[in-house]
Amino acid sequence: MTDPLVPPLVTVEEHRERILAAITPLPAFDQPLMEAFGLSAAEDVHAEVALPGFDNSAMDGYAVCHADVAGATAESPVHLPVVGEIGAGQAGLLAMSPGTAVKIMTGAPVPAGADSIVPYEWTDRGVAQVVISQAPELGQHVRPAGEDVAVGDLIVAQGTVLGPRQLGLLAAVGRPSVRSRPRPRVVVLSTGSELREPGTALGHDSIYDGNSFLLAAAVRQAGGIAYRVGIVPDEPRAFTDALGDQLVRADLVVTSGGVSMGDYDVVKAALAPLGTVWFGGVAMQPGKPQGFGLVGEDQTPIITLPGNPVSSYISFEQFVLPAIRRLMGRTPYTRPTADAQLTHALRSPEGRRQFARGTLSVIGGRLAVTPVGPQGSHLIGDLADSDALIVVPESVTSVDAGETVTVLPLDEEF
Ligand code: AMP
Ligand code: MG
Repeated sequence: MTDPLVPPLVTVEEHRERILAAITPLPAFDQPLMEAFGLSAAEDVHAEVALPGFDNSAMDGYAVCHADVAGATAESPVHLPVVGEIGAGQAGLLAMSPGTAVKIMTGAPVPAGADSIVPYEWTDRGVAQVVISQAPELGQHVRPAGEDVAVGDLIVAQGTVLGPRQLGLLAAVGRPSVRSRPRPRVVVLSTGSELREPGTALGHDSIYDGNSFLLAAAVRQAGGIAYRVGIVPDEPRAFTDALGDQLVRADLVVTSGGVSMGDYDVVKAALAPLGTVWFGGVAMQPGKPQGFGLVGEDQTPIITLPGNPVSSYISFEQFVLPAIRRLMGRTPYTRPTADAQLTHALRSPEGRRQFARGTLSVIGGRLAVTPVGPQGSHLIGDLADSDALIVVPESVTSVDAGETVTVLPLDEEF
């Protein structure tokens, strides 16, 4: 039975698509390598130099011509005069003649005329003359120029997340900086006249503001810079002022609370008159009341989440995390799912996608998931005990133990 006065719920995908469509990736700019750590490359980087850049020695030993030492054995060693010495970073000696040897250190350039390296261990370590008792293969212990990376090779593709190995390689080819998208600045506001800052006194009618910490930490985990503004009372004027103060440093604003049907729903009361913020219901549980729009001079995106902690967190996962990833130029927007065997039966409301909390384990070599606690959206203790969300589709009202369900593992990097 549909009530013509109550607008229908939108799907999780519809709401997410609405948000993603209104958000564009932040402009990229050249950033020093260490600033770019964890960011996504916004250019294809091709090597302008080869690696190694020149033939160099892989061992401490003697550079020789292979033909001179091919017959060397312990019984009939080869004697060669040592005509010089080259350390790493010292290219004093550029060439040598057949019938001679040059002492050479690891990483030092192999002089022209030499083609192989005899490691110290196969010699008497002589200074003026060296006795060689074992022959290298032709080219042995020489690292040839371009062996690793050739000039022009694609070394970092656009979209790659820049971790230690990528930054090390960029530096190795001489790049001091890389074009990348910055971390989005995300302002987190929690609303509620009942809220108090942890560490302060609590009255019999007040509760601690868990959400601004939950959301700010989630922003940071997603790669954003979190500005945890904290508590705004349920007064539209106070909310509008706080928002106005924060917009200047925000690429995205996330609020918690004040979007349901109550008498004091401050976020709705303050933003609905602007006409640029949509408020409505999403067919999910928990997390039905949602809002999204653009506010202020710069049309800054704002995602308004419900206040119950579990609703807030699950809504963050479904809507804010994809928005942050889009701003950063990272894909996929949503977490990879997995299949798991449900260990205990679950019930779920008709017409709503349920995100139940669960813990993952491996039973008999298969991924299994155990529901945690009842499904109240205020149960932050149970939320903290979980490491996955169990997704029960809109059309399903119960799942039996032993059935396969879709899960979202929460702690995996992607
Ligand atoms: P609301 O969405 O504002 O109606 O809040 C729904 C429920 O979540 C209420 O019981 C609030 O007290 C609670 N709540 C709202 N904001 C927070 C917060 N920042 N931390 C913890 N609980 C909250
Ligand atoms: Mg409230």
